[in-house]
Amino acid sequence: MKTKRQNKQNNINIITLGCSKNLVDSEVLMNQLQANGLSVTHENSRSNAGVVIVNTCGFIETAKQESIDTILQYAGAKAAGKIDKLYVTGCLSQRYKTELEQEIPEVDAYFGTLDLPFLLEELGADYKHDLIGERNLLTTPPHYAYLKISEGCNRTCSFCAIPLMRGKHVSKSIEQIVAEAKNLVRNGVKEVMLIAQELTYYGLDIYKKRELPELLRHLAGVDGLEWIRMHYAYPYKFPMEVLDVVNEYPNICNYLDMPLQHISDPVLKNMRRLITKDETYQLIDAIRQKSPGIALRTTMLVGFPGETDEDVEELAQFIRQARFERLGIFQYSHEEGTTAYQLEDNVPEEVKAERAAYLMNIQQEISAELNQLKIGNTYKVLFDRKEGGHFIGRTEYDSPEVDNEVLVDARSNKNFVRLGDFAPVRITDATEFDLYGELVRP
Ligand code: SF4
Repeated sequence: MKTKRQNKQNNINIITLGCSKNLVDSEVLMNQLQANGLSVTHENSRSNAGVVIVNTCGFIETAKQESIDTILQYAGAKAAGKIDKLYVTGCLSQRYKTELEQEIPEVDAYFGTLDLPFLLEELGADYKHDLIGERNLLTTPPHYAYLKISEGCNRTCSFCAIPLMRGKHVSKSIEQIVAEAKNLVRNGVKEVMLIAQELTYYGLDIYKKRELPELLRHLAGVDGLEWIRMHYAYPYKFPMEVLDVVNEYPNICNYLDMPLQHISDPVLKNMRRLITKDETYQLIDAIRQKSPGIALRTTMLVGFPGETDEDVEELAQFIRQARFERLGIFQYSHEEGTTAYQLEDNVPEEVKAERAAYLMNIQQEISAELNQLKIGNTYKVLFDRKEGGHFIGRTEYDSPEVDNEVLVDARSNKNFVRLGDFAPVRITDATEFDLYGELVRP
């Protein structure tokens, strides 16, 4: 008969910081632990777990600070006797293991991004090879999941520390990814977000050619997979054939996330993005011509060393002209170990923030205008949650957590819908980032 203490020590609470790729790593860890008979929770603040694992992010300054604060929070809980063991894994730990061991010795052990078997061993668990590609336990709502198709990155963007933490690009095989997708669908998943550090590099290592189009064709054939969504495409040598596959298969969302980072030639050059201003304009035009109605999401980076007001005006002009459906903005973070670290970080933090706000205001207007055009249209919506008197879902043009949402009044009887179901919604109103609508009954 296990003692109360033994039960507590067999109860593990996992905290995930950072991106969806880290979330998948946490899910893989959770499934391995569960298969070893340990009980796991994810970010359960009321958990009486005896063991906490913090899966950290080490991408930029703000993310690093959040990771350190979270580690210190649980180091405090350990000192107060609320938890017995504290482990840290993920990108920050991969990048700063030595420093962290010295600065926060309360942590029982630090692990890198590729140390899963050692972390399991530390917890008295075995690495279950037969579980590869199986994620029955998800941290997302059961009807959608992230599907990581590769690890690492071979690109050399000068501002980016990710290759330092995630290593070189390693693709999974098409068979492995399809098996993983089928397993997810068996567990109720209807939508997958394809993720990687650099999605369009897929296959160049193991198949010696870009195989994202082929992978998409295989995934489109998975019964029950209703939405397949692409994130983190790279603009340089973007394989336009991908869009032929998008146009051919209705279960591949007419949606593409492609971080562009900037548009001014001197900045793109210093960022080592391998693409020019003209090529970027031509690429966006070509994508829109090939896939009319596609929702383009992008990310821009402001405040890169040497960025001038003229560079920002060029970016503002590009954003006005390209009219991205979805756009996010990061502020440059001076990261040691990156090639940009040799440059002087000469754009003051307050100027970085001003530039980000200026560009986000332009995008807000564009998003409001584009959303107004949706009023009166009917869209297939996948419902994720119920909140504040509304059923809340997304169209195929919206990815979870980062894009627009569709709100349907849950107080009206004619609007009942089950979470995780698709239903047609006629849009009746819109704001800059949300749509309001009512269910269309047959
Ligand atoms: S492609 Fe993305 S992950 Fe790779 S180096 Fe560039 S910014 Fe970093």
